[in-house]
Amino acid sequence: MALLPIYLYGTEVLKKEAQRIIEITDADVALVQNMFETMHEANGIGLAANQIGLLKQILVVDISDTEAGKGTKPLLVINPEIVDEEGEVEFEEGCLSIPDIREKVWRPESIRLRFQDINLKVHEKDFDGLFSRVLQHEIDHLNGILFTDYLSGTKKTLLKSRLKKISKGDIETSYEVVPVETKPKTKSAKSKRK
Ligand SMILES: [Zn+2]
Repeated sequence: MALLPIYLYGTEVLKKEAQRIIEITDADVALVQNMFETMHEANGIGLAANQIGLLKQILVVDISDTEAGKGTKPLLVINPEIVDEEGEVEFEEGCLSIPDIREKVWRPESIRLRFQDINLKVHEKDFDGLFSRVLQHEIDHLNGILFTDYLSGTKKTLLKSRLKKISKGDIETSYEVVPVETKPKTKSAKSKRK
């Protein structure tokens, strides 16, 4: 098993849509194990493949260590599709790709999820509470969406400098991160055009 570095806010892979999985290779099985390990080591309760730099529709959730998630089991979700949703609730979210920022976001309260397991067997299950919340957050990742995308313009303006710092990796985390690549500074070529 191996720990994988987590891509930070601003990196391109977090803005892209992940591809559907059509077959599971041995590498994918190893990847899933590494995703669980990486999430646990980082004290996260959810992790999507985009966050470790891969555009695959794979996410993992484990809320068993939380008050709300006592007695639940870790869940691997492949090719998720929300087929029904109900209610609306505001809840504070955080993200391993956006360390130290937590904001309230409105989302459907409960969802019915169609997804596949490691054998690509199809399941359909209902989720509510924290489980539903984490799943929706992670499914958003697979669609290139971050929770900060839901914030108001004012909120975003207030967070702008902190988000910029995060994107540069100018932040302390207990896990390895991948910041936005800083382009090597090229000397501005003097214009010779007349
Ligand atoms: Zn996240």
